[in-house]
Amino acid sequence: MAEETLFTKIINKEIPADMVYEDDLVAAFRDINPQAPTHILIVPKKPIPTVDDVSEEDEAALGRLFTAAAKIARREGISSNGYRLIINCREHGGQEVYHLHMHLLGGRPLGRMLSR
Ligand code: 5GP
Repeated sequence: MAEETLFTKIINKEIPADMVYEDDLVAAFRDINPQAPTHILIVPKKPIPTVDDVSEEDEAALGRLFTAAAKIARREGISSNGYRLIINCREHGGQEVYHLHMHLLGGRPLGRMLSR
């Protein structure tokens, strides 16, 4: 059996995390090393390694990342000022944890998307 990912262990409560949202398809918890006042990771429960590994059968879970993000952003009080959603893919994308996840960042102006 493949080894559980770090995020599967968090979803299964084997590792503690500040969980802010959970439903049948996704879970969301605060990033351990926040880059903004709100920094939440939204993760499909299915351990898809990267965006390059998604298939049509994952479309419901991937769509849910967005509806969960919007819901959480409203709860965090950052909807009207706005926020940023990021999904990193593999080495050049800066991905560290190979269990697909969406970063929800907000609570301050985030500046340009990429440094030049
Ligand atoms: P990536 O670079 O893969 O897109 O993002 C991985 C994120 O996971 C990083 O922002 C990192 O701070 C966060 N992270 C790594 N280990 C843990 C952990 O054990 N708990 C939590 N809550 N976040 C983690």
